[in-house]
Amino acid sequence: MGRRRRQKVRRRPQKRIPDVYPCPDCGNTAIKIQIYRDNGMATVKCGSCSIEMTIDDVNPLTESVDIYGSFIDKFYEQRSVEA
Ligand SMILES: [Zn+2]
Repeated sequence: MGRRRRQKVRRRPQKRIPDVYPCPDCGNTAIKIQIYRDNGMATVKCGSCSIEMTIDDVNPLTESVDIYGSFIDKFYEQRSVEA
């Protein structure tokens, strides 16, 4: 007699979709955003070209999309200054 395998139905906790955004520098969707609410800051990092930026105007309502927006703004700001 074959062993009967009990199929366990395990509820997985909802997987958090990693916040990955397109990089304005290299064009790859490799921007990762980490929010440190305790410190009121966030880091933006590209896993592809390793561009990095710290955003320090994080409030409890700030979401990663907002961080991304600030990052894009700053990115082009810096670029226009350098150019
Ligand atoms: Zn990049």
